Amino acid sequence: MNELNRYGWNEMLNQLKQESIHRALSHGRVTIVHRTCYEVISGDGLFQCELTGSMMYGKSASELPCVGDWVIFQSFDDDKGIIVDMLPRQRTMYRKKNGTVSDKQAIAAYVDKAFIVQSLDDNFNVRRAERFIAQILEEDIEPVFVLNKADLDFNRQRIDEAIKHLTRQIPVFITSIRQPQTILRLRESITEGETVVFVGSSGVGKSSLVNALCEKPMLVTSNISQSTGKGRHTSTRREMILMDGSGVLIDTPGVREFGLTIDNPDSLAEMLEISDYAEACRFSDCKHIDEPGCAVLEAVDSGLLDHKVYESFLKLRREAWHFSVSEHEKRKKDKSFSRLVDEMKKQKGSF
Ligand code: GDP
Ligand code: ZN
Repeated sequence: MNELNRYGWNEMLNQLKQESIHRALSHGRVTIVHRTCYEVISGDGLFQCELTGSMMYGKSASELPCVGDWVIFQSFDDDKGIIVDMLPRQRTMYRKKNGTVSDKQAIAAYVDKAFIVQSLDDNFNVRRAERFIAQILEEDIEPVFVLNKADLDFNRQRIDEAIKHLTRQIPVFITSIRQPQTILRLRESITEGETVVFVGSSGVGKSSLVNALCEKPMLVTSNISQSTGKGRHTSTRREMILMDGSGVLIDTPGVREFGLTIDNPDSLAEMLEISDYAEACRFSDCKHIDEPGCAVLEAVDSGLLDHKVYESFLKLRREAWHFSVSEHEKRKKDKSFSRLVDEMKKQKGSF
């Protein structure tokens, strides 16, 4: 397999590249972003790139390349380059910027799977997992729930009970970097050329899992003390790692809070199995709050639907609505601003 194919390059991306006016130049994938410097892996090795002015002009931060993006660049000096174009984004993980209502930040692009990692101690929180899953499904990325540190004492029954609705919808792995079999199973779930992003709080073992997945199975068993040693780096920057004969892993910095940036809560209803009941509601536009003949409320009353899952649904849906309203407002504002600028230009022209 060609080096860049292992990073996920394929015929579909090649087709997209042909639509760019810069199609004759080199292409590559962004592996790390340090402020204005982009590290790009290409068929000819690693390049340190910057953006050309027109790539930055009029763009919001979330539109600039992020880890995982495919870019076209003009190379110079063997290992430097200027990024002149970016292939249209697909399957991008976004998160809402802290302290803003609707500004979003791109975490990683061209993602196939997202490993939502939690540890089996007090970090375990099924509501937070649902929030991640809702966001990930929205982007057409496959969510996978990874419960790590299985070597610690935990109440298996309580965990199974709490995640049973998720287990029916998405793959769930219970792992420990001290139990090589569990790492092996996780590794087998990743295929060559596939991009996997790791999300979850810091300290849950994301970097340890990335390291364990990249090691040869032999090493996982023989080097435990080394790979669990204290003082391992906690990730402060995003990075991309190529697995031997398998996929591409992207480690993200600890994302504790994860504001939703979704417009449409349908996938949410499906994931939380609300839609299974909603089909039987009397009104087709039932909001499942207090409507007569609401089959969702009936399912909650009868205990068929866990009331915690139902409340989680209401909360996430409210948030999604809130986001889409503020996005709408923002777009309206942007529009009226550009209209104002157009007006002013016209007026200037008439003087
Ligand atoms: P990250 O911040 O999510 O990347 O977490 P790290 O990989 O840095 O791990 C945080 C701490 O948890 C480190 O001390 C690891 O050695 C430890 N750790 C990671 N995985 C496991 C595991 O499966 N079991 C146990 N007991 N500790 C783990
Ligand atoms: Zn209803």
